[in-house]
This record gives sequence, structure tokens and C-alpha cells, in this order.
Amino acid sequence: MEKIVSLAKRRGFVYQSSEIYGGFAGVYDFGPMGVELERNLKEQWWKKMVYERDDIVGLDSAIFMDPKIWEASGHTKGFSDPLVECRKCHKRFRADKILEEIGVPADEKMSEDEINKIFGENKDKIKCPECGKQNFTKVRKFNLLVKSNLGDFTNDNSKPVYLRGETCQGIYVNFKNVLDSTRLKIPFGIAQIGKAFRNEISPRQFLFRGREFEQMEMQYFTRPEDEMKEFEKLREYRWSALLELGISEKNLSWKRHENLVFYAKDAYDIEYNFPWGFDELEGVHARGDYDLTQHSKGCGKQLDYYDQEKNEKFIPHIIESSGGVGRLFFAIMLDAYTEDEMSGETRVFLKFRPEIAPIKAAVFPLLKNKPELVAKAKEVYEMIKKEIHPVVFDDNGNIGKRYRRQDEVGTPYCVTIDFDTMEDDTATLRNRDTGKQERVNIKEIISRLKI
Ligand SMILES: [Zn+2]
Repeated sequence: MEKIVSLAKRRGFVYQSSEIYGGFAGVYDFGPMGVELERNLKEQWWKKMVYERDDIVGLDSAIFMDPKIWEASGHTKGFSDPLVECRKCHKRFRADKILEEIGVPADEKMSEDEINKIFGENKDKIKCPECGKQNFTKVRKFNLLVKSNLGDFTNDNSKPVYLRGETCQGIYVNFKNVLDSTRLKIPFGIAQIGKAFRNEISPRQFLFRGREFEQMEMQYFTRPEDEMKEFEKLREYRWSALLELGISEKNLSWKRHENLVFYAKDAYDIEYNFPWGFDELEGVHARGDYDLTQHSKGCGKQLDYYDQEKNEKFIPHIIESSGGVGRLFFAIMLDAYTEDEMSGETRVFLKFRPEIAPIKAAVFPLLKNKPELVAKAKEVYEMIKKEIHPVVFDDNGNIGKRYRRQDEVGTPYCVTIDFDTMEDDTATLRNRDTGKQERVNIKEIISRLKI
């Protein structure tokens, strides 16, 4: 964990938000390398969930929505975590997480009374993770929705407009719009990538649990009787999508939810082997007709579907695939992190698949002080840049150091221009994973780098 966090900062993947002001809890910034990796992960997701599917379309709904949406969905009442405070050091914690750590099953879906009872029964075993004292306040449920004063000019903030707590509500409320403006027939899906916000009580574990984060969600609308069949298909589809990104299968596992929310038919998480153990990477959930039923009641319009062939109307059932960009980013970094030995030294490299690597190739002149090598290297760099991006040019330091720099950010190939290049128009193509170098004709380099 420390190795990844420090590499992430040192090489420009992830910075703590507002770091020069001491840092802002639960929020992160993506640096020059991070933004490329992040964009590639989103692009791969979109490709898998939209472009490779004839039955799924994209959407980009706004972060702000009518607050009635969050009432209808149950978020203003039920979207909360159990908060407990240490009376000694005044640090706040999630009561369910504290209980879990001492081996007592608990989760955020329990009522305030339920969790207070369990917390009370175990109070002799519970110590403050911060100061070690055993003196806690009562557990109370704290709503996770982040409030704003958008459109409110009264200063009393009695009618808050929320920053969305999840992206899928924007999909549900556009179900009719998409249906009426496309030729889609059930079953079909709507996919969206976008920011969401939650007042997490104790944001922790780097990108794993943040207060501002990005979601990648796909909601799939089915006939009621097809819901579970489609659910199984979606589970399989998501599993293979993660493998295609290069995540090792041994680091993934399925976990079925034991304590389902009342409307859910079934729910699974795909867990990743994070440094603290297997934990949720993304979810595949069968949500029944809850979402469209709630919004039908909330807005007073029937959000149903008319099947022409069968001449029947029904409220579609929904299965969803829901994941976080930050969690996937973190898992991909962990999975790609590799140490080996090269030329008698320990080497660190990120074994990204080329399609998600932040930099696709680096071009070096062997020596910085030979103008003809530098000019030729610049020429090759410009040529590659037209076809493949991003590509970097580096003439700083000895060649071994330059290779290491690229290894650390996961650049799959380095192209080195040397004296032989001036004779026969070939260059050295170095493979990140093996360190092996081969002579390749410059004309062939682009096709070799193409993914
Ligand atoms: Zn304490």
C-alpha cells in the first residue's frame, strides 16, 4: 500500500487534494500520469459497455437534479451510515466497520436501534482505533447526501439541492426519454460515467472510499421474467471485462450479499485483493422493479413499457453493473506493480496492458550531446506522435535511468536512436516487461507500437 501511494505521488498519478493547505480528506487529484490512466480505464469501460453492445446506449445526466428524486429513491431517509464518536479524542468512525474489525457482522443497512444494541453488547471489546479508549457516544445514522444551496437565495438552507449520491438515478429518470428518442426495445441498457458525492464518515484506504468519486454504471431494463437470466449474463460479462483489462484472476472473487435491501432480488460484488484483503471492486445487482416504481409514484407518471408484440404493459425490472473509477484505478495500479531484478538492481515497473498504459512509447537519442542523434530522434518522435499518443521524448540522463523512469509509469516500449540508426535506419525497440531489445526498421516501428 505505502509503495503504491508513494509511487502514485512521486510519478504524478495521484495527489491528495489541496495538499499545500494540508490536504482535504476523502478527495484526490489525478496528476499527468493519473489522468491518462483514468481516461483509458473509462474508455475501455465505455467500449465494453456501449460500443461492443447493440443493446446499450450512453447518457450524461447532470450532477444536480430535482431533490424530489432523492426522496422517491429513498435516499433522503435511508442513505445513511452508522456514526459513532470517541468521547475522548472526538474522532468519528463507522460503527459497522468497527464491529466488523472485531469479527462481529454488521452493516450500514441495519437500523439505528439494531446497531446500537450490537454495539452495546460488544462494548467491552471495542477500543477507539485512534486513542485506544473505550468511551463512545450512541450510534446515530448519518445521511450521506451532500447538500448545496443551488437556486436557494434565502441563507437558511432549508430546501437543499443535493449533489448526486449515485449516477444511476439520472439514468432511471431518463428511462422514458431514452425509450422515446431511440428505437430500443427491451431488454436494453443505459450506461453512464460521472461524478458522485457522499459524506463518508471516515474516508480511508486511498482511492477506495472517497467523498468525491466517479462511477461507471450501466442499468439494464428487462422483462420481469427475464431479470435473473440477464443478471447471470451480466455477471459473466463484467467478470470477463475485468480480466481483459489485465487484472489477474487470482486477485478477483465473487461475494454474494448476505443482507439484501428489501427490494433486491440478488446482489453480488466482484471483490479485489486489496492490501487489507478482498473488498468490493464493483457490484452486479438485480433490483427488481423498485426504481421505476418509486419514480412512477414520485413524479405521478407511469414509467412503464409497452410490448407491442405481446400487447402488454409492465414496469421493467432492472439489473445494474456499478463500479468506481477510483477503485478500479487503485486495483489496476496494485495489480500492475511488479518488482524484479535487472542488471543486478531491483527494478520497479507497472505491467499495464498497452491499451491502458498512460504513455504508449518513449523515444530517446542514445546521447544528448550528439546533435545528429538528437535530430534523428526528434524526427522519429514526431512521426510516431502523429499516429500514437501520448508519446514522450526524453534525452535527460543515462539511458538506463531513462528506461527505469518509463518502467515506473508502465510505458510498454522505448525506442532508442543510436549511431547504427544513422547507417541503416533501424532503432532499438525495448520491451518493458522483459527488458529485451531488438533492432527494428524505423518504417516498421509504428505498426509494432500499434495496439
Ligand atoms: Zn479516541
